[in-house]
Amino acid sequence: MAVSTTIGFPRTGSKRQAKVALESFWKGKTSEPDLVASFAAVDEEAWRAQQAAGVQLIALDGTYYDQVLDMVYALGVAPARFKHLSGLELYFAMARGAPNAPALDMSKLLDTNYHYLVPELEEGFAPKPDFSAILDRLKRGQALLGKDAAVPMMVGPVTFALLSSTTLPIESVVEKLLPSYAQLLRQLQAVGAPEVQLHEPALATDKGAAAQRAAQAAYAQLAAVGCPIHLVACYDDLGEAYPWVAQLPVRALTLDFCGVPGATAPNATLDLIRANGWPADKRLGVGCVDGRSVWADDEGACTALLNELRTLGASSLAVTSSVSLQHLPWDVTLEPALPAGLAPRLAFAVQKLGAIARLAAGKGVSGAAGAAGGWVGRVRDSAMELERAMFDRAENFEARRAKQPQFPAFPTTSIGSFPQTAQVRRLRAQLKSGAIDRPTYERLIDQQIALAIGIQEGLDIDVLVHGEAERTDMSEHFGMQLSGMVFTQHGWVQSYGSRYVRPPIIAGDVAFVNAMTVREFKVAQDLTPRPVKGMLTGPVTILNWSFPRKDLSRRAQAFQLALALRQEVAALQDAGCRIVQVDEPALREGLPLKHAKWDSYLSWAVDAFRLCTAVAAPSTQVVTHLCYSDFGDIMKPIIDMDADVLTIENSRSGDAMVRALAQAGYTADLGPGVYDVHSPVVPGVDALVAKLRTFLATGILAGAPERLWVNPDCGLKTRTWDEVVPSLRNMVAAAHALRAEV
Ligand code: GLN
Ligand code: ZN
Repeated sequence: MAVSTTIGFPRTGSKRQAKVALESFWKGKTSEPDLVASFAAVDEEAWRAQQAAGVQLIALDGTYYDQVLDMVYALGVAPARFKHLSGLELYFAMARGAPNAPALDMSKLLDTNYHYLVPELEEGFAPKPDFSAILDRLKRGQALLGKDAAVPMMVGPVTFALLSSTTLPIESVVEKLLPSYAQLLRQLQAVGAPEVQLHEPALATDKGAAAQRAAQAAYAQLAAVGCPIHLVACYDDLGEAYPWVAQLPVRALTLDFCGVPGATAPNATLDLIRANGWPADKRLGVGCVDGRSVWADDEGACTALLNELRTLGASSLAVTSSVSLQHLPWDVTLEPALPAGLAPRLAFAVQKLGAIARLAAGKGVSGAAGAAGGWVGRVRDSAMELERAMFDRAENFEARRAKQPQFPAFPTTSIGSFPQTAQVRRLRAQLKSGAIDRPTYERLIDQQIALAIGIQEGLDIDVLVHGEAERTDMSEHFGMQLSGMVFTQHGWVQSYGSRYVRPPIIAGDVAFVNAMTVREFKVAQDLTPRPVKGMLTGPVTILNWSFPRKDLSRRAQAFQLALALRQEVAALQDAGCRIVQVDEPALREGLPLKHAKWDSYLSWAVDAFRLCTAVAAPSTQVVTHLCYSDFGDIMKPIIDMDADVLTIENSRSGDAMVRALAQAGYTADLGPGVYDVHSPVVPGVDALVAKLRTFLATGILAGAPERLWVNPDCGLKTRTWDEVVPSLRNMVAAAHALRAEV
């Protein structure tokens, strides 16, 4: 027998109540007490679900926006620009910005699709803690669950420091935070918490010796408080950090026994315990129920694991999920329309609770239907060993570039989407609800395409786009039309704050069914003599934004997607398309936490892109677009993608990306973003000219200005036409000003 615990649960509410509460509060439709009451109800629903499943130690998860932001607030380390604010006003200002006080930056949590707010710790920062919200949460949890079951959870000091943006060394940041953490532990213990969960996912990344020293000092000091600490160190195995983390003076340590999404085999945690042993005085939290997979777990294998851990000396065991269940949708039984036979194979957060409770009670069910981690897949990994020639364009860049469309110096274009106006969104909703039929819908979409083409021609842009009005989401639009991918109706997962996404499930072999973008391309191209870009989402991005299978490697799944999209590239080409853009904004998101594993990921990810695009004739120009992050450290793989044109988000990093590319020997066409699409500000012509000159100053593409593209940073779907038209007009004017100098 083992204890059952949770280490986090969806904070959304089963019906997205948290989002509804936030949005009505922000619109001023509800009061602060209404908001507080709504969130108490959201917490209660989640805690009750865990209690009903029979979980013994329940983590008191729940947040108004983000758990890292919660700690910024609780520790009282808001940046100085917010100092005139307090309470919820301060909290939401840090999340969303206030006049003259821009929001904290947002960043992806490790290798997940969850975004946290980045704490900013200025040189002389001094915590002014306010733990009332955390203590209140504990009291509410105790009232509902009883004192023995209610366990506070929060981000630990080492991870908080490592996630922060600061110039201070990690050790001194942690040292400054410790008195506050110690005070918090004391207060929680005084209220009767049986233990406190400190989440330290950063321990699974390779952060080096300073982080180790900081963690050892921190936990020695926190242990002295006397409040039992449950250290949660998930999001992969601990690798080389295992021996010293296992020795930290805490009551319980929870480890991830599953690993990255879609891994076909468990990570190295069990091997680390086999090799290094387990300290007998500690409870081992066995994260064997996969918190990053929607497939039902193999409870027989989990039971065997628990038995082996006992033989390895772990006499006190707890069963839990491999990571917080916040990354999963709420409940499979809310999905009425899944394909027959699929539902029993799936497990969302509520079903995972059942597995945790069963395994802890020694009643794990062997042979769960989903244990295979797939559904209708027949292709095996070995079948994805493809001929090398399929990954290579027929000619090298210089030879094919001469055959591709030619443009004057500083050619202008955009990244794909145009404003998703209320009218466009209504159209799609009407099609979905049946209010309009497909021919009517297509006729109205075609009007949007005509509008976009007309505006771009009026602005004198060189390479046009159709505007993506028919796409809700750049990955869903393709997934819905491919076989093998399944979409849920209620499978929402928090991306950040009030933003939730519904990732598709790769349930079986992915294959091309019908052309997915050719109709809209043709409509657009028929309207103009200028070239229109075909616009696709790349295989790696679709994979990284989906729940993958577990019975086939991620590489093989990426290759299946690539083969399907390869047919789309060919279909566009057959329809007369001369320029095809394949977006890979999520390429970087799949990078493993540990540097040593980067190469193997990047090699198949780059191969997947090449497999998708190598079918293009030499005379077809292949464009790619990368965004959402810095790519400075993966320049070589980006060059290896062998695209003819690379457009890259850049405007917030000056010319850093361009310089890095120049240094890495990049020679193909380049379109570094010239302005930030996330801001409503219309960039001035002079600023744009100056920006372009900084690119030229790096020496990149010297003597070939016809290959230096001028485009915004990313798609324009979140902007209004009022912002887009003047911005693009200035962008074209800037390009023409430089063109006149050539
Ligand atoms: N073509 C897409 C668009 O313009 C690219 C979006 C992205 O990079 N995230 O919307
Ligand atoms: Zn982008």
